[in-house]
Amino acid sequence: VLDIDEMIALKLVHEIHTSERKSFRACRRRWNWLFRENLYPTMTAKPLEFGTVMHLGYEVYYDPSTWNAPRDVVAQYAIKKAVEKSNEQRKAFLASGLPYNEEDVTTDYDERVALIKGMLNHYFKNIAPVQDVGWTPVKVEIAFMVAIPHPDTKEPMWCKCDTCWERWTKSGDTYEKLGLKCTCGTPGLNYEGPQRDCEVHGETWQGLPVVYAGRLDMLAVDNEGNYWIFDWKSARAINVDHDEFLELDDQIMSYVWALRKLGLPIKGFVYHEQKKGFPNPPAENKARRLGRLFSVSKNQDTDYDTYLKTIKEFDTAAYEEGLYDEFLDFLQKDGIIFYKRWQIHKTDYQCEQAEYNIGQEALEIIDPLLRIYPSPGRFGCTTCAFRQPCLEVNAGGDFQYALDTLYEKREHYYVRRDPSTESKGGE
Ligand code: SF4
Ligand SMILES: [Zn+2]
Repeated sequence: VLDIDEMIALKLVHEIHTSERKSFRACRRRWNWLFRENLYPTMTAKPLEFGTVMHLGYEVYYDPSTWNAPRDVVAQYAIKKAVEKSNEQRKAFLASGLPYNEEDVTTDYDERVALIKGMLNHYFKNIAPVQDVGWTPVKVEIAFMVAIPHPDTKEPMWCKCDTCWERWTKSGDTYEKLGLKCTCGTPGLNYEGPQRDCEVHGETWQGLPVVYAGRLDMLAVDNEGNYWIFDWKSARAINVDHDEFLELDDQIMSYVWALRKLGLPIKGFVYHEQKKGFPNPPAENKARRLGRLFSVSKNQDTDYDTYLKTIKEFDTAAYEEGLYDEFLDFLQKDGIIFYKRWQIHKTDYQCEQAEYNIGQEALEIIDPLLRIYPSPGRFGCTTCAFRQPCLEVNAGGDFQYALDTLYEKREHYYVRRDPSTESKGGE
């Protein structure tokens, strides 16, 4: 019989991810469609595509094997790879057979490429050199899996859900290679591997281990030998007062717990949030106004550093005379924030608590008697991709038709290996 590590290595597991926990707690009806039935809306979610491309940019830039190469060269290469990825997505969309308006698709993807180039360029040129001090990347894009202990017994948890059974029996190849093919020969049953209703194996099958799984953007080590988990998110706006929310955040807590559980001396989590946008140089006035060559309009997509650099270089006299002081002051205090990086520490006690809570939640998620019901709420339902079938269920309509026509069965993003990158703030 396989031990738990062998099963994890063979991916013979019931995996639970942070995204599923959030979904489970938010609305079980949606969770059931999404995580048990694997239904996804047929239209590809744009933000996910965007996030995938941005992540590729960071991944290439922080590749440990090129860490000592000239950063500007690596940065250009990273941008090139990201743009190629976006173009691949465009091609895939055009070939997908989904109806589209060519002009819209072109504009959409062109805008996205411009945004990605601008954001990565800004990040590599102005942010990374300031922020990436005192540590070195160890590895990028790391998948992990760790067994979830039962909260009461601390023993591994096992799941016998249909998906686990299917995964187990489909692992016939592996099973046979390991010389474990079911040969019990119970009369009347034709064995193609272990059978769930086999008196011998059905009863002794303990299920698949329940594991917590995820993927880190990067693992880095600081000058004192401490390890840090890095994660990049893009957001529409940066919430600088995020500290408490991040302290409570599931992903941050559970990743630190999981990696410590795997034996890595993880100090904490570095959470980098990047605004979807980048600072532009200030707009130039048509004619000099009140002695200034550049606009002091507060609606500009710019930041203090970019603005200062431009006026110092191209309107030196006015800058030295102090004509921009007031506006510079505004930018510094109340201007747009394009990024923020937080460093979050976790204690061993917090990890113990996290382990207990994850165990409690996992027990509910795998409970065969779990009740499924909707949890309507203004915030959750507005952004829910299953609103239509949900309304149909409530009205006694043909929700199955809606599910069959508007959704497709797909592997989850973690099986497809796409990163989960969007930070919506408090999801
Ligand atoms: S619309 Fe609201 S209640 Fe219905 S599945 Fe979505 S989140 Fe749940
Ligand atoms: Zn299962």
